[in-house]
Amino acid sequence: MSKKTLVLWDIDGTLIVSQGAGVRAMERGFTKRFGLPCDLRKIDWAGRTDSWITSEVLRHNGLPDTPANIQAYLEAYLETLPLELADGPQGQVLPGILELLETLHHHPRIAQGLLTGNLQRGAQFKLTHHNVWHYFEFGAFADDSPRRNDLGPHALRRAGERHNVTFTPTQTWIIGDTPHDIECGKVIGARTIAVATGNYTLSELESHNPTAAFADFSDTSAFLRTIGA
Ligand SMILES: [Mg+2]
Repeated sequence: MSKKTLVLWDIDGTLIVSQGAGVRAMERGFTKRFGLPCDLRKIDWAGRTDSWITSEVLRHNGLPDTPANIQAYLEAYLETLPLELADGPQGQVLPGILELLETLHHHPRIAQGLLTGNLQRGAQFKLTHHNVWHYFEFGAFADDSPRRNDLGPHALRRAGERHNVTFTPTQTWIIGDTPHDIECGKVIGARTIAVATGNYTLSELESHNPTAAFADFSDTSAFLRTIGA
């Protein structure tokens, strides 16, 4: 029987902020591929998956969200993202994150991975840009499903394969900056930690009843106490 704890991290607004690089890549990728202007402010994108967002953008612009259009749009996004990360205003790794990733990486009873609305390649671009990609050996991504609530079981399965143990939802913490992160943890019976370093305030997040909520993760020992590490 395993006594390991699984920690699953969201990316944008939780590990890093990229000063709009992802949003600009979504907008410019759309224009590049479909020749139409795109304003992501019309879409409620925070906490959604990239595949969900591309569907919404297509429909907002009167284009059918066929698998072929979604695939073409996502490819254009992935071509644009590295340019936006390199040339745009520089983002940052959020407070406490480097210390937490390093501590959990070396912790014998903790496994950490990703549970993110990014495509796997998009996640790799963003986290490589910020020098933290090497902390993550597995994850669940927008490639798995356009619905964030579907991603938990994919993450648990991959964690189990990587670590050769079965992780149960009650041994699992899902960390994120939006109500969608809290919800996707609750639907599998996992514990949840919300952090107000993205687009939502602490009180907005607390109203969705996560297991714990933080303004940010600068108090790393409070975070580690919460997950029992
Ligand atoms: Mg996020």
